[in-house]
Amino acid sequence: MIRATVFGALVLFNALVLVAQPIAPAFNSRPGAAYTLYLNFTGFQYTGNWGGQTPGITPAFRNQTGSSFTASQQAEIKNIWARTAETWMAYNVNVTTVDPAAQAGHTTYLARQHYYDTTARVQHSVIGDGASNFFGGAAGVSYVGTWANSNTAGSGLSTNWTFTNRSGGYGSYKRIASVTVHENGHAAGLSHQGDYIGSQEINQYSTNNGSTNTRPALGTGNAQTRVAWAVGRVNTNPNTIQNDALRIRQNSGMGGFIDDGIGRTLLTASALTLNGNTIDSLANQGVIVPVSNTNPNPIGVDNYTKGYYSFTTAMAGINSITVNAGTQWITTGESDPHQSLDATLRILDQNGLELAVSNTSSFSETISLFLNKGNYFIEVSSAGGKFASKGPDGTWDDKLFYDMGAYFLTGNVLAVPEPSGVFFAIAVGLMLFRRERRK
Ligand SMILES: [Zn+2]
Repeated sequence: MIRATVFGALVLFNALVLVAQPIAPAFNSRPGAAYTLYLNFTGFQYTGNWGGQTPGITPAFRNQTGSSFTASQQAEIKNIWARTAETWMAYNVNVTTVDPAAQAGHTTYLARQHYYDTTARVQHSVIGDGASNFFGGAAGVSYVGTWANSNTAGSGLSTNWTFTNRSGGYGSYKRIASVTVHENGHAAGLSHQGDYIGSQEINQYSTNNGSTNTRPALGTGNAQTRVAWAVGRVNTNPNTIQNDALRIRQNSGMGGFIDDGIGRTLLTASALTLNGNTIDSLANQGVIVPVSNTNPNPIGVDNYTKGYYSFTTAMAGINSITVNAGTQWITTGESDPHQSLDATLRILDQNGLELAVSNTSSFSETISLFLNKGNYFIEVSSAGGKFASKGPDGTWDDKLFYDMGAYFLTGNVLAVPEPSGVFFAIAVGLMLFRRERRK
């Protein structure tokens, strides 16, 4: 009797999901990229087994059963999408909320499931509450190294899950995004990175000694400011060093790290785009990536690309320039949370000599300085990577973090001379003031 009731409830719920799956807001981080990471917030019914267990129904985000998400739910989805997408900005990957299977004309769950499985370079990542009998202890699950392939229809190899109910709940954007980055790191071929003392494993999931600032994407990145791609020993084999950025880039057809189109030398500097004296944040943005596609190295500023911008001041005065680490999808001109780049900012004179540098412990940097009328450059670079903590007693093996990812510029430069009308107005004001005193 009880079983029949439960079964009936499932059927009813199933019918609701099938009839009214909410339409997700459409976000794309890199339209046209070779690889697609489809973040599915609309719920899914998985047919058959996955990893020996039964996924069944994953409800839509916040159990939305209507035909659309509310405005606040759409904002939540955008937040999780932006955090996840930011981490993939150095690669030829479009992180999207638009279903590629639906775009290809597939409507049923089974047809969509087969499309994800059999379409190379498409990964289907379901984000929602997991059933208690589907990997009940896990925050997420994924196969390893299956994203690049065309897999067998029905194998489920191209679908993974982030379980919101086991990742802090729907409002835990940071943790949901960290788990989603982690699971899709698996899909891109990455194993867990552990903490070791010699060949002895201390943590299966690296913690960076409990850091609240940076943790490796393939360790425990659950609640930190950022999850970073790393170089370190994998948990299954202390003799294997995994270079995350290299392994991701080695996926078939991924190509090299992104070329953001910004001049990478003084001679090829991009002209700073201004609206009057205001730096246009959307027109001055880039992605700092490793220089080498075949041997990327996290440690060393010169192992990363640099972005150069040229500008001309029309008068002497104070200029203020900020390099904002991260993307700006949620609010234009403001860094999205979960930045992966730690940036360094320099102002150079027309000969390329350094006038000012800012390289604080913050991911973003600001320089305000007096400049005479003339020609100058902005240089944006990586902070040059980080060594992970060596543990409470300093004996943990080295682990290295990449400082790579998106940025944009904001601020003001004195590119436009003060209009002469201002001086005229001041002169008139003084005359009026004098006349008043005479009365
Ligand atoms: Zn994992």
